[in-house]
Amino acid sequence: AFSAELVPQAPADPLFGLMAAYRADTDPKKVDLGIGAYRDNNAKPWVLPVVKLADEILRKDPAVNHEYLPIAGLVDFTSASQKLILGASSPAISEKRVTSLQTISGTGAVHLGALFLSKFYSPAIAAAKTIYVSNPTWANHNQIFGNVSLPVKNYPYFNKETKGLDFDGMIDSISSAPEGSIILLHACAHNPTGVDPTQEQWKKIAAVMKQRCQFPFFDCAYQGFASGSLAQDGWAINYFVEQGFELMIAQSYAKNFGLYGERAGCFHFVAAPSSSAVDEATRVGSQLAILQRSEISNPPAYGARIASLVLNDPKLFAQWEEDLRTMSGRIIEMRKALRSKLEELKTPGTWNHITDQIGMFSFTGLSEKQVGQLREKFHIYMTKNGRISMAGLNTGNVEYFAKAVDSVVR
Ligand code: PLP
Repeated sequence: AFSAELVPQAPADPLFGLMAAYRADTDPKKVDLGIGAYRDNNAKPWVLPVVKLADEILRKDPAVNHEYLPIAGLVDFTSASQKLILGASSPAISEKRVTSLQTISGTGAVHLGALFLSKFYSPAIAAAKTIYVSNPTWANHNQIFGNVSLPVKNYPYFNKETKGLDFDGMIDSISSAPEGSIILLHACAHNPTGVDPTQEQWKKIAAVMKQRCQFPFFDCAYQGFASGSLAQDGWAINYFVEQGFELMIAQSYAKNFGLYGERAGCFHFVAAPSSSAVDEATRVGSQLAILQRSEISNPPAYGARIASLVLNDPKLFAQWEEDLRTMSGRIIEMRKALRSKLEELKTPGTWNHITDQIGMFSFTGLSEKQVGQLREKFHIYMTKNGRISMAGLNTGNVEYFAKAVDSVVR
């Protein structure tokens, strides 16, 4: 029987705890480098101009109401999402090998994929029903897969010496995972390290996975936000699809549209090219719809309407690409500024990784002790693993941060 006394107290989510501590700090110099959301140069949340525009259009549209969406979500949104992630001329789309459902942002897409795998993934080797995630990865991956009782193992990813990719470790580990294992890959702007494989490295990863008949699950939370180019950030996924993989994709619009709280996302299953691919995609779609119905019934409408309006209108789309360049450009500028300040100060160590890494986050290499000192002495907030959100830096605080880092590293 259920007994409330047996429910242990859970620790607070470390990231949300960090946010609360930052808010409670009254020092005017405080810096928030924990938050996984874009901030403008004044450290303020930024509503994308294109989102403002789309919002105004929607508010004036007399046809917009508050009815339920279909179980699989808004069709204009899911079909535009397929084109965005796979490329408008993708054979997978024209051959009707893709099945897509609108989800509760990227988290919901990862969860829907996880649930589907736990119910239906049946590799020839039982031990292959395991998902391999990078070490480290977005902390929620472990919780989400754990919730559906899908065993999770790690592959090495981050080289502490170079603060770059441990490519050999990653490849060795994937090569020795059982045939048919599921491999979770960050499509771009790896969270938390900011380290991505090069295109040559992606090709080798694909070759090993092909040989081992492994199943790729791409988590794509930063398309367009990382490099500023939607195509470049989607390159790895497109390459795997071209190689004929059967795969799944979790797609988030939180960062690239700044629609964090609106929870707009999409899940895609792509069947491998074969004479039964359409049939397979249809059957998978039918099961996903049942899972979706039992979990959320149908997805939230407003964020998807905004994204759909932009994705389906060439003029708004062009404006969105401009907004993406504004965000990614500012972040790239902050990377350059931080590296050059640290090098100017002759801070011990090498700092090229700050500009080699990409996207929202950077794994600085700062120790837990140094992170503690930054918080106590300088009111700078970041996660214990030394990850900083580049979005928290701006022209007003980057020098302060560099000097603080210099002081704790010496
Ligand atoms: N996956 C990764 C790797 C992420 O970094 C994030 C957000 O931080 C997500 C998924 C999902 O975010 P959301 O549910 O807000 O779309």
